[in-house]
Amino acid sequence: MTLAHRPDGVHVRAPGKINVYLGVGPRHDDGYHALATVFQAVSLYEDVYAYPSEGFSVEIVGDVNVADVPTDDRNLAMRAAKLLARTAGVDDGVHLRIRKGVPVAGGMGGGSADAAATLVACDALWGTELGPHRLHELAARLGADVPFALHGGTAVGTGRGDQLTPALARGRFDWVLAMSEQGLSTPTVYGRLDEMRAHGEGLADDAAPSLEVPVAMLHALRVGDAHELAPVMMNDLEPAAIADRADLALALSDGVRFGALTGIVSGSGPTLAFLCAGPGAARTVQEELRATGRDALHVHGPVAGARIIL
Ligand code: ATP
Repeated sequence: MTLAHRPDGVHVRAPGKINVYLGVGPRHDDGYHALATVFQAVSLYEDVYAYPSEGFSVEIVGDVNVADVPTDDRNLAMRAAKLLARTAGVDDGVHLRIRKGVPVAGGMGGGSADAAATLVACDALWGTELGPHRLHELAARLGADVPFALHGGTAVGTGRGDQLTPALARGRFDWVLAMSEQGLSTPTVYGRLDEMRAHGEGLADDAAPSLEVPVAMLHALRVGDAHELAPVMMNDLEPAAIADRADLALALSDGVRFGALTGIVSGSGPTLAFLCAGPGAARTVQEELRATGRDALHVHGPVAGARIIL
């Protein structure tokens, strides 16, 4: 390990994610649900700049609404920096400048991307050279979605979503994301799912089948066929996420009417992800959704995980 040369600042970019498949099992005693999920990292990014500092501080800027993002120890990036410093025995601090491109509380793992980017940035800034395995361990301690933001690409997540197996995915998938101004809290959506299940509302009593990622989905990803992927996409959280949000149910049917192959709630929502046959179809869906007054973006996946930008 060489600590002789310390950079003046490090810039790391990490992607937001879509859950192409999200099967949710019963709630465990620790409050977490068993998951079987397929993540895909998409071309909507968080940029984290880490600068040498005596203390720890976070500054948030960005095109999305960043008003609700904390800048104290509740911020996942701040927690990531302090965890790495503690683990590696670093006495230095860091100033983190986070440029958010992923909607806040949007179900796309923006905070998790910040945490992953911060681990990579501080590891480089401080010269701690922990290596991918240890960084993964720290990521899993910070949150279930953080390891995936480190790795990127397309991956199957089990356990809490943090036990990752890379999935082969050929080519590129075109997505249109429909954003919402009003975010959704992940714990609230899971809580509502538990209530709905307790009342047997519209959900299978036996949740076990959705804890297996369908073979047809892995095949569709492997051959890079959006037409094959669309019918097997699924999100167990969707009924809970759209329960009080008639606007989301309407937008889901609008997107398909405008030519998307299918649309699902991304993670715990409220961002909607529409899979399109190609870039042309995606541009049409994006324009038509915008014409209805929605904020829509055309992105693609899979893309790489947290990476240093030179
Ligand atoms: P996930 O899908 O991983 O559950 P999300 O994408 O729905 O999360 P985030 O934007 O990651 O939501 O964060 C949700 C909440 O976490 C925010 O409302 C905010 O209060 C808090 N938070 C903590 N750190 C961050 C961060 N770095 N960026 C955004 N939100 C953060």
